[in-house]
Amino acid sequence: MSLPNDITGTPAEPRSVGFGPLTATVDYTKLRALPANKYPDYFNRVHQLFTGLEIDLWSQIAQYQGEDQLWLAHALYLYGANRDALPDDFDHTAAVSRLVGRATLRTAMPGAENDAFEREVLRASGWVRGAVVRKLAPPDTAVAAKLNLIYNPPGSDQDGKGETKVGPLQENVLKELPDLLAKVVDEQLRHWVPPTGTKSEPESLDHLRRIADFLQMFVAVGLRPYADSWEEGPYFDGFRYSERLQSTWELPAGPAQLLNWMMNRAQAVGWDRQRGALLVKANYDATRAQDREKLRALLRERLSTDPALSRRVGAMIKLTAAHSGGEGNISVQPIFPSPAWGTKSDWRWRVIRTLVHELMHRLAHPRFRETAEGIRHSQIIGEGFVDLLTVDVYTQLWDAVSKSGRGAQVLLKGLDATKQPDPSFLKVGYGEAGASAVAIRDLVGGDNVRAAFFLGATHLIGLPPRQ
Ligand SMILES: [Zn+2]
Repeated sequence: MSLPNDITGTPAEPRSVGFGPLTATVDYTKLRALPANKYPDYFNRVHQLFTGLEIDLWSQIAQYQGEDQLWLAHALYLYGANRDALPDDFDHTAAVSRLVGRATLRTAMPGAENDAFEREVLRASGWVRGAVVRKLAPPDTAVAAKLNLIYNPPGSDQDGKGETKVGPLQENVLKELPDLLAKVVDEQLRHWVPPTGTKSEPESLDHLRRIADFLQMFVAVGLRPYADSWEEGPYFDGFRYSERLQSTWELPAGPAQLLNWMMNRAQAVGWDRQRGALLVKANYDATRAQDREKLRALLRERLSTDPALSRRVGAMIKLTAAHSGGEGNISVQPIFPSPAWGTKSDWRWRVIRTLVHELMHRLAHPRFRETAEGIRHSQIIGEGFVDLLTVDVYTQLWDAVSKSGRGAQVLLKGLDATKQPDPSFLKVGYGEAGASAVAIRDLVGGDNVRAAFFLGATHLIGLPPRQ
């Protein structure tokens, strides 16, 4: 036996590998007994068994290198041994095809430490996604009714039976929102003005890129088995966080972007109880196209008649961390705010939180994002759950950092590493949207939320997929 094997040991067989609420069984004893001249027959038979298709798969596999063939033989064997955990309508043809494609891109061989091979195969094939979603129960009718009230909060009108319902839009109330937004813009912009006689200090995007790549790995492990198990998602499509990170100064700030920024803030500020919850009072219903259009028109008009506000919103866009949607870039501020905001360490902790938040946007399954269009309080989907999961990751990160001693020095490189993150960073933000996401998780459980968010299984949080 070679030295490395003596040290690490060959993994035991049979054994179980855990994926959250799931376990897969691992035992290749019979496969190892198969002589190499039986490989053509093995691949063709297994392929037919899984897919029902009569295809000479071997003619493709024969060109693979020996290690790739070995990888695929084990991968198909493992997949087959755990096939029963998948739902009846699971697409095995697609799964086998993904494994055939993965063999030449593989990152772990059979016998690799920490079950890295099994984790790769069962994630890349779609097995983890399929099996974990099947394992989780959707909310029952009573819970679904409670969820519906959270997704579609009633307005301020009362119907004949004394129950609240969403009445017609109160335009006179909605008209108060632009003034409130202008005040919020002023508040936020003040944080960026350097004290008289000083200049803004640059933040190192290079260092933030390194943190970004670290976070991408940290999230995969910390939110296992959900964050990295969508077989077509960012962990398999070549996404690398650092390559997608850019300065907010690169963001365009034309009329369309000014309006979008205002619409986004109108949601955050308008549902916020501490700021008077104007959208609730106005009976605003985001599922009604005419309500959205009315709000949009109101903000458009304000921007076009108030050049000072337009200029300020333009400045805010250039200083607001953002995710450009879909597979676009993630932007962070290239400077530190004014010392009046807080210390540079305070800010770095906050940027790290922002990096986690923006990464969550990128990891949200498109089917999850689309459900926002079907509910009244769409920001629960757009931001609430994003920030909820951000806090899960940030809490784990702070836990790890505070135990390691050196962790804070690495993350805060060059800054005062004795500074701890502000306690508010460990709380879910986004006002009502965040509080609602927390309430929903209390009702359906954390696994259901993660499966909906990362794997698109939105029925697990009481939202049918959009057609
Ligand atoms: Zn966000």
